[in-house]
Amino acid sequence: MPEAELAKSEAMVRVRFAPSPTGYPHLGNIRTALFNWLFARHNGGSFILRIEDTDVARQVEGAIDTILDSLRWLGLDWDEGPYFQSQRSEIYREVADQLVKEGLAYLCYCSPQRLESMRREQIERKQPPGYDRHCRYLAREKRTELEASGITPVVRFKSPLEGQTSFYDLLRGDIVFENSTLDDFVLLKSDGYPTYHLANIVDDHLMVISHVLRADEWLSSTPRHILLYQALGWQPPQFAHLPMILGSDRAKLSKRHGATAINEYRNQGYLPEAMVNFLALLGWSLDDVTELLSRQEIIKHFSLERISKTAAVFNRDKLEWMNGVYLRCLSLEEFTRQAIPFLERGLPLEIERPLETHYTRQIMPLIQERAKTLAEVPQLSEFFFVDELEYDVSLLLGKIEDTQAVKALQASIAKLEALENWDMASLEAVLRPMADELNLKTGVFFGLLRVAITGRTASPPLFQTMEVLGGERCLKRLRVALNKLSVSEFG
Ligand code: GLU
Repeated sequence: MPEAELAKSEAMVRVRFAPSPTGYPHLGNIRTALFNWLFARHNGGSFILRIEDTDVARQVEGAIDTILDSLRWLGLDWDEGPYFQSQRSEIYREVADQLVKEGLAYLCYCSPQRLESMRREQIERKQPPGYDRHCRYLAREKRTELEASGITPVVRFKSPLEGQTSFYDLLRGDIVFENSTLDDFVLLKSDGYPTYHLANIVDDHLMVISHVLRADEWLSSTPRHILLYQALGWQPPQFAHLPMILGSDRAKLSKRHGATAINEYRNQGYLPEAMVNFLALLGWSLDDVTELLSRQEIIKHFSLERISKTAAVFNRDKLEWMNGVYLRCLSLEEFTRQAIPFLERGLPLEIERPLETHYTRQIMPLIQERAKTLAEVPQLSEFFFVDELEYDVSLLLGKIEDTQAVKALQASIAKLEALENWDMASLEAVLRPMADELNLKTGVFFGLLRVAITGRTASPPLFQTMEVLGGERCLKRLRVALNKLSVSEFG
Protein backbone atom coordinates (compact mmCIF):
# COMPACT_ATOMS: atom_id res chain seq x y z
CA MET A 1 0.00 0.00 0.00
CA PRO A 2 1.37 3.43 -0.85
CA GLU A 3 1.53 4.74 2.68
CA ALA A 4 3.19 8.03 1.77
CA GLU A 5 0.35 8.68 -0.64
CA LEU A 6 -2.20 7.90 2.00
CA ALA A 7 -0.64 10.23 4.49
CA LYS A 8 -1.22 13.12 2.12
CA SER A 9 -4.94 12.59 2.19
CA GLU A 10 -5.05 12.80 5.97
CA ALA A 11 -7.75 15.43 5.97
CA MET A 12 -10.06 13.26 3.93
CA VAL A 13 -12.77 10.97 5.13
CA ARG A 14 -11.38 7.45 4.98
CA VAL A 15 -13.51 4.72 6.47
CA ARG A 16 -13.29 0.97 6.40
CA PHE A 17 -15.42 -2.10 6.65
CA ALA A 18 -13.36 -4.69 8.49
CA PRO A 19 -15.26 -7.98 8.69
CA SER A 20 -13.81 -11.14 10.16
CA PRO A 21 -14.59 -14.16 7.99
CA THR A 22 -15.71 -16.17 11.01
CA GLY A 23 -19.26 -16.43 9.66
CA TYR A 24 -21.51 -15.26 6.88
CA PRO A 25 -22.28 -11.57 7.01
CA HIS A 26 -25.58 -10.86 8.72
CA LEU A 27 -27.82 -7.83 8.70
CA GLY A 28 -25.86 -6.11 11.44
CA ASN A 29 -22.53 -6.52 9.64
CA ILE A 30 -23.96 -5.21 6.43
CA ARG A 31 -25.62 -2.27 8.18
CA THR A 32 -22.12 -1.36 9.44
CA ALA A 33 -20.72 -1.67 5.92
CA LEU A 34 -23.56 0.43 4.54
CA PHE A 35 -23.15 3.25 7.08
CA ASN A 36 -19.42 3.43 6.38
CA TRP A 37 -20.06 3.41 2.65
CA LEU A 38 -22.73 6.12 2.93
CA PHE A 39 -20.46 8.24 5.09
CA ALA A 40 -17.65 7.92 2.53
CA ARG A 41 -19.90 8.65 -0.42
CA HIS A 42 -21.60 11.60 1.26
CA ASN A 43 -18.25 13.16 2.07
CA GLY A 44 -16.49 12.29 -1.17
CA GLY A 45 -14.13 10.10 0.86
CA SER A 46 -12.85 6.55 0.50
CA PHE A 47 -14.40 3.28 1.54
CA ILE A 48 -11.82 0.63 2.28
CA LEU A 49 -12.41 -3.08 2.57
CA ARG A 50 -10.21 -4.98 4.98
CA ILE A 51 -10.63 -8.64 5.78
CA GLU A 52 -9.62 -9.31 9.38
CA ASP A 53 -8.67 -12.94 8.93
CA THR A 54 -6.24 -13.45 11.77
CA ASP A 55 -8.39 -15.86 13.75
CA VAL A 56 -7.44 -18.86 11.68
CA ALA A 57 -9.19 -21.41 13.90
CA ARG A 58 -12.57 -19.71 13.65
CA GLN A 59 -12.42 -18.96 9.94
CA VAL A 60 -15.47 -20.23 8.05
CA GLU A 61 -15.04 -21.66 4.60
CA GLY A 62 -16.65 -19.50 1.92
CA ALA A 63 -17.17 -16.55 4.25
CA ILE A 64 -14.81 -14.23 2.39
CA ASP A 65 -16.51 -14.87 -0.95
CA THR A 66 -19.90 -14.35 0.63
CA ILE A 67 -18.79 -11.05 2.13
CA LEU A 68 -17.50 -9.81 -1.23
CA ASP A 69 -20.58 -11.07 -3.08
CA SER A 70 -22.94 -9.43 -0.62
CA LEU A 71 -21.22 -6.08 -0.91
CA ARG A 72 -21.26 -6.31 -4.68
CA TRP A 73 -24.90 -7.34 -4.69
CA LEU A 74 -25.82 -4.30 -2.63
CA GLY A 75 -23.70 -2.00 -4.76
CA LEU A 76 -21.39 -1.10 -1.87
CA ASP A 77 -18.31 -0.62 -3.99
CA TRP A 78 -14.97 -0.20 -2.29
CA ASP A 79 -12.19 2.15 -3.31
CA GLU A 80 -9.34 0.15 -1.84
CA GLY A 81 -8.81 -3.43 -0.92
CA PRO A 82 -9.71 -5.98 -0.07
CA TYR A 83 -6.66 -6.00 2.17
CA PHE A 84 -6.07 -9.25 4.01
CA GLN A 85 -4.58 -9.06 7.47
CA SER A 86 -3.29 -12.62 7.13
CA GLN A 87 -0.88 -11.28 4.51
CA ARG A 88 0.41 -8.52 6.73
CA SER A 89 1.75 -10.50 9.69
CA GLU A 90 5.22 -8.99 9.42
CA ILE A 91 3.90 -5.50 9.96
CA TYR A 92 2.10 -6.42 13.18
CA ARG A 93 5.05 -8.39 14.47
CA GLU A 94 7.31 -5.39 14.04
CA VAL A 95 4.95 -3.19 16.01
CA ALA A 96 4.66 -5.79 18.76
CA ASP A 97 8.47 -6.12 18.90
CA GLN A 98 8.83 -2.37 19.12
CA LEU A 99 6.41 -2.23 22.07
CA VAL A 100 8.33 -4.99 23.84
CA LYS A 101 11.60 -3.20 23.23
CA GLU A 102 10.20 -0.02 24.70
CA GLY A 103 8.96 -1.85 27.78
CA LEU A 104 5.31 -1.20 26.87
CA ALA A 105 4.54 -4.84 26.23
CA TYR A 106 6.04 -8.11 27.43
CA LEU A 107 6.46 -11.73 26.54
CA CYS A 108 4.18 -14.12 28.36
CA TYR A 109 5.02 -17.81 28.64
CA CYS A 110 1.97 -18.98 30.55
CA SER A 111 0.68 -22.31 29.30
CA PRO A 112 -2.95 -22.74 28.26
CA GLN A 113 -3.32 -25.07 31.28
CA ARG A 114 -2.11 -22.40 33.69
CA LEU A 115 -4.44 -19.82 32.14
CA GLU A 116 -7.32 -22.26 32.38
CA SER A 117 -6.80 -23.02 36.07
CA MET A 118 -6.36 -19.30 36.75
CA ARG A 119 -9.68 -18.66 35.01
CA ARG A 120 -11.40 -21.36 37.04
CA GLU A 121 -10.08 -19.94 40.28
CA GLN A 122 -11.24 -16.47 39.34
CA ILE A 123 -14.73 -17.79 38.71
CA GLU A 124 -14.71 -19.66 42.03
CA ARG A 125 -13.57 -16.59 43.93
CA LYS A 126 -16.02 -14.46 41.97
CA GLN A 127 -13.16 -12.27 40.77
CA PRO A 128 -13.35 -10.44 37.45
CA PRO A 129 -11.81 -12.51 34.65
CA GLY A 130 -8.51 -11.49 33.14
CA TYR A 131 -4.86 -12.35 33.01
CA ASP A 132 -3.19 -12.14 36.45
CA ARG A 133 -0.05 -10.49 35.04
CA HIS A 134 2.13 -13.39 36.14
CA CYS A 135 4.73 -12.85 33.38
CA ARG A 136 4.70 -9.06 33.71
CA TYR A 137 6.67 -9.43 36.90
CA LEU A 138 8.98 -12.32 36.01
CA ALA A 139 12.45 -12.10 37.52
CA ARG A 140 15.23 -11.66 35.01
CA GLU A 141 16.72 -15.13 35.56
CA LYS A 142 13.33 -16.81 35.22
CA ARG A 143 12.73 -14.94 31.98
CA THR A 144 16.09 -16.00 30.56
CA GLU A 145 15.34 -19.55 31.53
CA LEU A 146 11.93 -19.49 29.80
CA GLU A 147 13.44 -17.88 26.70
CA ALA A 148 15.88 -20.76 26.48
CA SER A 149 13.16 -23.35 27.02
CA GLY A 150 11.80 -23.11 23.48
CA ILE A 151 8.24 -22.23 24.59
CA THR A 152 6.70 -19.80 22.12
CA PRO A 153 5.50 -16.81 24.10
CA VAL A 154 2.62 -14.48 23.36
CA VAL A 155 3.06 -10.72 23.54
CA ARG A 156 0.88 -8.92 26.07
CA PHE A 157 0.25 -5.23 26.44
CA LYS A 158 1.15 -3.60 29.77
CA SER A 159 -2.11 -1.94 30.63
CA PRO A 160 -1.80 0.85 33.17
CA LEU A 161 -2.79 -0.34 36.61
CA GLU A 162 -4.61 2.80 37.62
CA GLY A 163 -6.07 5.95 36.18
CA GLN A 164 -8.64 6.24 33.45
CA THR A 165 -8.76 5.98 29.69
CA SER A 166 -11.26 8.15 27.92
CA PHE A 167 -12.29 8.99 24.42
CA TYR A 168 -14.96 10.91 22.66
CA ASP A 169 -17.55 8.93 20.75
CA LEU A 170 -19.24 10.94 18.02
CA LEU A 171 -22.60 9.42 18.90
CA ARG A 172 -22.31 8.89 22.63
CA GLY A 173 -20.06 11.67 23.79
CA ASP A 174 -17.33 11.22 26.40
CA ILE A 175 -16.66 7.65 27.42
CA VAL A 176 -14.46 6.87 30.40
CA PHE A 177 -13.05 3.49 31.42
CA GLU A 178 -11.23 2.68 34.65
CA ASN A 179 -7.85 1.20 33.72
CA SER A 180 -8.14 -1.19 36.64
CA THR A 181 -10.82 -3.01 34.63
CA LEU A 182 -8.48 -3.66 31.69
CA ASP A 183 -6.20 -6.66 31.77
CA ASP A 184 -2.91 -7.17 29.97
CA PHE A 185 -4.46 -8.29 26.71
CA VAL A 186 -2.63 -10.30 24.08
CA LEU A 187 -1.20 -8.48 21.07
CA LEU A 188 0.54 -11.32 19.31
CA LYS A 189 -0.60 -14.91 19.66
CA SER A 190 1.70 -17.92 19.87
CA ASP A 191 0.75 -18.88 16.30
CA GLY A 192 2.39 -15.64 15.21
CA TYR A 193 -0.87 -13.99 14.25
CA PRO A 194 -1.83 -10.69 15.82
CA THR A 195 -4.99 -10.35 17.87
CA TYR A 196 -7.85 -8.22 16.65
CA HIS A 197 -6.77 -5.33 18.88
CA LEU A 198 -3.27 -5.08 17.49
CA ALA A 199 -4.00 -5.70 13.82
CA ASN A 200 -7.03 -3.45 13.89
CA ILE A 201 -5.26 -0.38 15.23
CA VAL A 202 -2.09 -0.89 13.22
CA ASP A 203 -4.13 -1.03 10.05
CA ASP A 204 -6.41 1.84 10.98
CA HIS A 205 -3.28 3.87 11.49
CA LEU A 206 -1.40 2.76 8.37
CA MET A 207 -4.50 3.01 6.22
CA VAL A 208 -5.07 6.52 7.55
CA ILE A 209 -8.60 5.78 8.67
CA SER A 210 -10.29 8.98 9.75
CA HIS A 211 -13.47 7.56 11.28
CA VAL A 212 -14.26 4.19 12.77
CA LEU A 213 -17.96 3.48 12.50
CA ARG A 214 -18.62 0.11 14.04
CA ALA A 215 -21.12 -1.93 16.00
CA ASP A 216 -21.46 -0.96 19.62
CA GLU A 217 -20.32 -4.39 20.77
CA TRP A 218 -16.80 -3.05 20.10
CA LEU A 219 -17.18 -0.15 22.47
CA SER A 220 -15.51 -2.05 25.30
CA SER A 221 -12.48 -2.73 23.08
CA THR A 222 -11.97 0.93 22.34
CA PRO A 223 -10.12 1.87 25.58
CA ARG A 224 -7.58 -0.84 24.74
CA HIS A 225 -7.21 0.66 21.30
CA ILE A 226 -6.78 4.14 22.72
CA LEU A 227 -4.04 2.86 25.05
CA LEU A 228 -2.27 1.26 22.11
CA TYR A 229 -2.46 4.45 20.08
CA GLN A 230 -0.99 6.33 23.03
CA ALA A 231 1.77 3.77 23.50
CA LEU A 232 2.69 4.04 19.84
CA GLY A 233 2.43 7.81 19.75
CA TRP A 234 -0.22 7.65 17.04
CA GLN A 235 -3.28 9.83 16.62
CA PRO A 236 -6.43 7.69 17.00
CA PRO A 237 -9.25 8.00 14.47
CA GLN A 238 -12.63 9.34 15.51
CA PHE A 239 -15.03 6.74 16.81
CA ALA A 240 -18.75 6.28 16.40
CA HIS A 241 -20.32 3.15 17.85
CA LEU A 242 -23.52 2.41 16.01
CA PRO A 243 -26.76 1.60 17.80
CA MET A 244 -27.58 -2.04 18.30
CA ILE A 245 -30.19 -3.80 16.16
CA LEU A 246 -32.90 -5.57 18.11
CA GLY A 247 -35.50 -8.09 16.99
CA SER A 248 -39.18 -7.27 17.33
CA ASP A 249 -39.08 -8.89 20.78
CA ARG A 250 -36.41 -6.34 21.75
CA ALA A 251 -33.75 -9.01 22.14
CA LYS A 252 -30.51 -8.60 20.24
CA LEU A 253 -31.06 -9.58 16.62
CA SER A 254 -30.15 -13.19 16.06
CA LYS A 255 -30.95 -16.19 13.89
CA ARG A 256 -34.12 -16.68 15.90
CA HIS A 257 -35.55 -13.60 14.24
CA GLY A 258 -35.53 -15.22 10.83
CA ALA A 259 -33.04 -15.11 8.04
CA THR A 260 -30.32 -12.83 9.22
CA ALA A 261 -27.55 -13.86 6.85
CA ILE A 262 -27.68 -11.37 4.06
CA ASN A 263 -27.45 -13.92 1.26
CA GLU A 264 -30.63 -15.53 2.51
CA TYR A 265 -32.47 -12.31 1.77
CA ARG A 266 -31.03 -12.41 -1.69
CA ASN A 267 -32.19 -16.00 -2.14
CA GLN A 268 -35.64 -15.06 -0.98
CA GLY A 269 -35.94 -12.42 -3.66
CA TYR A 270 -35.34 -9.20 -1.83
CA LEU A 271 -34.03 -6.45 -4.08
CA PRO A 272 -30.73 -4.79 -3.26
CA GLU A 273 -32.27 -1.34 -3.51
CA ALA A 274 -34.95 -2.27 -0.99
CA MET A 275 -32.33 -3.72 1.34
CA VAL A 276 -30.22 -0.57 1.13
CA ASN A 277 -33.23 1.61 1.87
CA PHE A 278 -34.33 -0.63 4.73
CA LEU A 279 -30.89 -1.04 6.30
CA ALA A 280 -30.20 2.68 6.08
CA LEU A 281 -33.23 3.24 8.29
CA LEU A 282 -31.97 0.80 10.91
CA GLY A 283 -30.44 3.49 13.03
CA TRP A 284 -30.46 6.47 10.69
CA SER A 285 -33.36 8.57 9.49
CA LEU A 286 -33.94 11.56 7.28
CA ASP A 287 -36.71 13.09 9.36
CA ASP A 288 -38.35 10.31 11.37
CA VAL A 289 -41.18 9.94 8.84
CA THR A 290 -39.81 9.37 5.35
CA GLU A 291 -39.55 5.65 4.64
CA LEU A 292 -38.81 5.45 0.94
CA LEU A 293 -35.52 6.93 -0.11
CA SER A 294 -33.40 6.19 -3.11
CA ARG A 295 -29.73 5.38 -2.73
CA GLN A 296 -28.85 8.82 -4.09
CA GLU A 297 -31.13 10.57 -1.63
CA ILE A 298 -29.66 8.61 1.26
CA ILE A 299 -26.12 9.49 0.19
CA LYS A 300 -27.10 13.12 -0.14
CA HIS A 301 -28.58 13.38 3.35
CA PHE A 302 -26.54 10.85 5.31
CA SER A 303 -24.92 12.28 8.41
CA LEU A 304 -23.79 11.05 11.79
CA GLU A 305 -26.04 13.64 13.45
CA ARG A 306 -29.10 11.75 12.24
CA ILE A 307 -27.95 8.41 13.60
CA SER A 308 -30.08 7.45 16.54
CA LYS A 309 -28.57 6.90 19.93
CA THR A 310 -31.02 4.21 20.86
CA ALA A 311 -31.26 0.70 19.47
CA ALA A 312 -32.95 0.14 16.14
CA VAL A 313 -35.71 -2.44 15.91
CA PHE A 314 -35.78 -4.83 12.99
CA ASN A 315 -39.27 -5.12 11.59
CA ARG A 316 -39.64 -7.85 9.04
CA ASP A 317 -43.11 -6.76 7.95
CA LYS A 318 -41.70 -3.38 7.08
CA LEU A 319 -38.93 -4.97 5.05
CA GLU A 320 -41.47 -7.06 3.15
CA TRP A 321 -43.67 -4.08 2.53
CA MET A 322 -40.71 -2.05 1.32
CA ASN A 323 -39.52 -4.83 -0.94
CA GLY A 324 -43.02 -5.04 -2.43
CA VAL A 325 -42.88 -1.32 -3.19
CA TYR A 326 -39.52 -1.73 -4.92
CA LEU A 327 -40.78 -4.75 -6.85
CA ARG A 328 -43.73 -2.71 -8.16
CA CYS A 329 -41.35 0.06 -9.22
CA LEU A 330 -39.52 -2.31 -11.58
CA SER A 331 -40.49 -2.22 -15.23
CA LEU A 332 -42.58 -5.23 -16.15
CA GLU A 333 -39.71 -6.37 -18.30
CA GLU A 334 -37.29 -6.28 -15.40
CA PHE A 335 -39.71 -7.84 -12.94
CA THR A 336 -40.29 -10.74 -15.34
CA ARG A 337 -36.59 -11.18 -15.96
CA GLN A 338 -35.94 -11.43 -12.25
CA ALA A 339 -38.99 -13.57 -11.49
CA ILE A 340 -38.26 -16.27 -14.09
CA PRO A 341 -35.41 -18.00 -12.22
CA PHE A 342 -37.60 -18.11 -9.12
CA LEU A 343 -40.43 -19.63 -11.16
CA GLU A 344 -38.16 -22.16 -12.80
CA ARG A 345 -36.95 -23.21 -9.38
CA GLY A 346 -40.14 -22.90 -7.39
CA LEU A 347 -43.00 -24.18 -9.55
CA PRO A 348 -44.07 -27.83 -9.21
CA LEU A 349 -41.83 -30.16 -11.18
CA GLU A 350 -44.58 -31.49 -13.46
CA ILE A 351 -44.84 -28.10 -15.13
CA GLU A 352 -42.82 -28.15 -18.31
CA ARG A 353 -39.57 -26.17 -18.43
CA PRO A 354 -38.54 -23.81 -19.83
CA LEU A 355 -41.74 -21.94 -19.16
CA GLU A 356 -43.61 -20.56 -22.09
CA THR A 357 -42.33 -17.02 -22.39
CA HIS A 358 -45.35 -15.37 -23.95
CA TYR A 359 -47.77 -16.84 -21.40
CA THR A 360 -45.45 -16.06 -18.47
CA ARG A 361 -45.20 -12.45 -19.57
CA GLN A 362 -48.96 -12.13 -19.51
CA ILE A 363 -49.15 -13.50 -15.99
CA MET A 364 -46.44 -11.36 -14.45
CA PRO A 365 -48.29 -8.00 -14.33
CA LEU A 366 -50.89 -9.65 -12.10
CA ILE A 367 -48.25 -11.04 -9.79
CA GLN A 368 -46.06 -7.94 -9.68
CA GLU A 369 -48.96 -6.14 -8.04
CA ARG A 370 -49.06 -8.54 -5.14
CA ALA A 371 -45.65 -10.10 -4.55
CA LYS A 372 -43.65 -8.89 -1.59
CA THR A 373 -40.63 -11.01 -2.51
CA LEU A 374 -39.59 -12.80 -5.67
CA ALA A 375 -39.67 -16.06 -3.75
CA GLU A 376 -43.44 -15.65 -3.44
CA VAL A 377 -43.91 -15.49 -7.20
CA PRO A 378 -44.13 -19.27 -7.81
CA GLN A 379 -46.73 -19.75 -5.10
CA LEU A 380 -48.76 -16.74 -6.24
CA SER A 381 -48.77 -17.81 -9.85
CA GLU A 382 -48.83 -21.59 -9.61
CA PHE A 383 -52.51 -21.87 -10.52
CA PHE A 384 -51.81 -20.26 -13.89
CA PHE A 385 -49.43 -23.04 -14.79
CA VAL A 386 -50.81 -26.30 -13.42
CA ASP A 387 -53.12 -28.51 -15.41
CA GLU A 388 -55.28 -29.52 -12.52
CA LEU A 389 -56.10 -27.50 -9.49
CA GLU A 390 -56.17 -29.16 -6.15
CA TYR A 391 -58.68 -27.76 -3.74
CA ASP A 392 -61.36 -29.03 -1.48
CA VAL A 393 -64.94 -28.89 -2.64
CA SER A 394 -65.88 -27.10 0.58
CA LEU A 395 -64.03 -24.07 -0.74
CA LEU A 396 -66.62 -23.78 -3.52
CA LEU A 397 -69.41 -23.90 -1.01
CA GLY A 398 -68.01 -21.23 1.28
CA LYS A 399 -71.10 -19.02 1.26
CA ILE A 400 -73.46 -20.80 -1.03
CA GLU A 401 -75.79 -23.82 -1.11
CA ASP A 402 -74.64 -26.59 -3.41
CA THR A 403 -77.75 -26.53 -5.62
CA GLN A 404 -77.23 -22.82 -6.13
CA ALA A 405 -73.56 -23.36 -6.85
CA VAL A 406 -74.36 -26.02 -9.44
CA LYS A 407 -76.89 -23.73 -11.06
CA ALA A 408 -74.47 -20.81 -11.08
CA LEU A 409 -71.68 -22.84 -12.62
CA GLN A 410 -73.95 -24.35 -15.26
CA ALA A 411 -75.26 -20.93 -16.24
CA SER A 412 -71.75 -19.47 -16.32
CA ILE A 413 -70.48 -22.26 -18.54
CA ALA A 414 -73.37 -21.79 -20.95
CA LYS A 415 -72.78 -18.04 -21.16
CA LEU A 416 -69.04 -18.32 -21.50
CA GLU A 417 -69.19 -21.01 -24.15
CA ALA A 418 -71.04 -18.54 -26.29
CA LEU A 419 -68.65 -15.66 -25.59
CA GLU A 420 -66.99 -14.37 -28.71
CA ASN A 421 -64.15 -12.30 -27.32
CA TRP A 422 -62.39 -13.73 -24.33
CA ASP A 423 -61.21 -10.50 -22.81
CA MET A 424 -61.60 -8.89 -19.46
CA ALA A 425 -64.30 -6.39 -20.51
CA SER A 426 -66.46 -8.97 -22.30
CA LEU A 427 -66.08 -11.39 -19.39
CA GLU A 428 -67.23 -8.78 -16.95
CA ALA A 429 -70.09 -7.73 -19.24
CA VAL A 430 -71.59 -11.23 -19.25
CA LEU A 431 -70.75 -12.34 -15.74
CA ARG A 432 -71.60 -9.30 -13.64
CA PRO A 433 -75.33 -9.18 -14.51
CA MET A 434 -75.62 -12.89 -13.85
CA ALA A 435 -75.36 -12.46 -10.09
CA ASP A 436 -78.75 -10.75 -10.05
CA GLU A 437 -80.26 -13.26 -12.40
CA LEU A 438 -79.10 -16.06 -10.10
CA ASN A 439 -80.26 -14.16 -7.08
CA LEU A 440 -76.78 -14.17 -5.57
CA LYS A 441 -74.71 -11.41 -4.07
CA THR A 442 -72.03 -10.36 -6.56
CA GLY A 443 -69.27 -11.16 -4.06
CA VAL A 444 -70.64 -14.63 -3.43
CA PHE A 445 -71.01 -15.42 -7.12
CA PHE A 446 -67.57 -14.09 -8.01
CA GLY A 447 -66.13 -15.93 -5.01
CA LEU A 448 -67.50 -19.19 -6.39
CA LEU A 449 -66.01 -18.48 -9.83
CA ARG A 450 -62.71 -17.49 -8.27
CA VAL A 451 -62.36 -20.80 -6.45
CA ALA A 452 -63.36 -22.74 -9.58
CA ILE A 453 -60.88 -20.83 -11.74
CA THR A 454 -57.94 -20.51 -9.34
CA GLY A 455 -58.55 -23.05 -6.59
CA ARG A 456 -58.18 -20.24 -4.06
CA THR A 457 -60.27 -17.68 -2.28
CA ALA A 458 -57.76 -14.90 -2.93
CA SER A 459 -56.22 -14.23 -6.30
CA PRO A 460 -55.46 -11.38 -8.67
CA PRO A 461 -58.58 -9.66 -10.10
CA LEU A 462 -60.93 -12.30 -11.47
CA PHE A 463 -61.56 -11.06 -14.99
CA GLN A 464 -57.96 -10.23 -15.67
CA THR A 465 -57.02 -13.65 -14.39
CA MET A 466 -59.60 -15.30 -16.64
CA GLU A 467 -58.42 -13.36 -19.66
CA VAL A 468 -54.84 -14.49 -19.12
CA LEU A 469 -55.83 -18.11 -18.47
CA GLY A 470 -57.85 -18.12 -21.69
CA GLY A 471 -61.25 -19.62 -22.56
CA GLU A 472 -60.21 -23.20 -22.88
CA ARG A 473 -58.55 -23.46 -19.49
CA CYS A 474 -61.30 -21.52 -17.73
CA LEU A 475 -64.13 -23.57 -19.19
CA LYS A 476 -62.34 -26.75 -18.33
CA ARG A 477 -61.88 -25.59 -14.76
CA LEU A 478 -65.52 -24.58 -14.44
CA ARG A 479 -66.57 -28.02 -15.63
CA VAL A 480 -64.22 -29.69 -13.18
CA ALA A 481 -65.73 -27.61 -10.39
CA LEU A 482 -69.22 -28.60 -11.46
CA ASN A 483 -68.16 -32.18 -11.50
CA LYS A 484 -66.67 -31.92 -8.02
CA LEU A 485 -70.00 -30.59 -6.78
CA SER A 486 -72.05 -33.32 -8.47
CA VAL A 487 -69.75 -36.01 -7.09
CA SER A 488 -70.02 -34.59 -3.61
CA GLU A 489 -73.78 -34.24 -3.95
CA PHE A 490 -74.49 -37.75 -5.18
CA GLY A 491 -71.47 -39.52 -3.84
N1 GLU B 1 -13.13 -7.51 12.62
C1 GLU B 1 -14.07 -6.80 13.42
C2 GLU B 1 -15.47 -7.33 13.07
O1 GLU B 1 -15.56 -8.41 12.68
C3 GLU B 1 -13.95 -5.33 13.16
C4 GLU B 1 -14.49 -4.46 14.24
C5 GLU B 1 -14.06 -3.04 13.97
O2 GLU B 1 -14.67 -2.45 13.06
O3 GLU B 1 -13.16 -2.56 14.58
O4 GLU B 1 -16.48 -6.70 13.17
